[in-house]
Amino acid sequence: MVAYATVTMATKCDRVLGWLAVAGVAVIAACGVVLAGCDGAPAQNAAAAKASGTSEAARGGANAARAGHGHSAGAHSAHGAHGAAVKTTGPLKIVATTAQIGDIARNLTQGVSEVTVAVLLGEGVDPHTYKLTRSDAAQLHSGDLVLFSGLHLEGKMGEVISELARSGKRVVEVGAAIPEAQLLVPEGAADQHDPHFWMDPELFTFATGVVSREVLALTAGRDAAGAKVTENARAYNAALRELDEEIRGLMEAIPQTQRVLITSHDAFGYFGRRYGLAVHAVQGISTESEAGLADVSRLITLITAGKVPAVFVESSVSDRTIKSVIEQSAKRGQIVKLGGELFSDAMGKPGTIEGTYIGMMRHNARTISAALGGKNGASEGGSK
Ligand code: ZN
Repeated sequence: MVAYATVTMATKCDRVLGWLAVAGVAVIAACGVVLAGCDGAPAQNAAAAKASGTSEAARGGANAARAGHGHSAGAHSAHGAHGAAVKTTGPLKIVATTAQIGDIARNLTQGVSEVTVAVLLGEGVDPHTYKLTRSDAAQLHSGDLVLFSGLHLEGKMGEVISELARSGKRVVEVGAAIPEAQLLVPEGAADQHDPHFWMDPELFTFATGVVSREVLALTAGRDAAGAKVTENARAYNAALRELDEEIRGLMEAIPQTQRVLITSHDAFGYFGRRYGLAVHAVQGISTESEAGLADVSRLITLITAGKVPAVFVESSVSDRTIKSVIEQSAKRGQIVKLGGELFSDAMGKPGTIEGTYIGMMRHNARTISAALGGKNGASEGGSK
């Protein structure tokens, strides 16, 4: 098992964060204390910087570990986010491993000219199996702040990430911000959590909250930047709420008996939980293990019994297993169609609608709803 650097989170915050995580970012004045309301003045930039805490949590690297997802007592002490390393002038660079996490940073720093955001994993890239290249490592080293999704999503990057944290760089495991009680534990994997938290927009706001705090800490001492980040965070939070409602409408338009989502790998557990869909996959929560014949056979039985109308491929996973499910079902006289391509672990091409988190989630919801017989759902939110 790989040990990751962890991020600071205040346990007391957990119950009140969620949707408040972004909107309330400017009012998280001290560790463990959340001042209610979303209209707090952005003057707490410096305070948030202090609260966002512990460089030693990042430096601890391997020691900081996974335990408690940042809820461990050691993660609470607040000592100035970046210590002496805070740069109050000149350019700042954020490097994110996954596009979803990078998209949060991009949204929050829109209009903040001194901050640039780089993302390592492009369209169609599978984070479970991706190995960092030499140029990725150089990118990571060049960042003032490194964000990774975590919860063991980046299966092959653990060592590089831990090393980076040990070198004193601010390295944050964003997934550690999700309260443990809200994480899914996959069947047969008691010691591991499902890392695909972004599939639930509400859980995603925990990530957005922690990235907000980190970006505020990064831009500490730059008042205009801090105010802009706070403003962006509020707007983004509002957009995420709208997205959540739109997805709910699309899923509710699917006839109850057809709310079954079958995909290549088990990335949609949180999505299914939030919107009331049964979720099944050929492969488990990681694509590292090969899919077996038994997995395909299990799904075909399920499709036949439930008359499931469609199955889905994912942009970052080979379509081989899902195509085999379709073929084998047909041999048994059960026609199941290909419902379309979903974005799970990778987003779409940069610069396209699906190249944003909100765009990819909307695409997924519309594709799922249309293929599973959703009535009028697709027209609800306007056309693509
Ligand atoms: Zn995955």
